[in-house]
Amino acid sequence: MSDIQCKAEECSTIIYDGEYCRRHKIAFERIKEGFEKWKKALGSIEWEEYLQELAGNKPGNVGTDVIAVAIQLLNG
Ligand SMILES: [Zn+2]
Repeated sequence: MSDIQCKAEECSTIIYDGEYCRRHKIAFERIKEGFEKWKKALGSIEWEEYLQELAGNKPGNVGTDVIAVAIQLLNG
């Protein structure tokens, strides 16, 4: 079994299954939940547009883990 790294931006945590470490997995779940809320609030927003909003946000407004995952999703 080969060790792989978490896919999130600037995270070098070794993971054994899935795509993210525990921390970034939680962040990814938050991103998906947030997207549903934004869609309801704004009427329509594209997934990429939403990710760009998150990626360009200030740490403090959204978590740094969320920003790292958003950047990775945009680049990936
Ligand atoms: Zn990670």
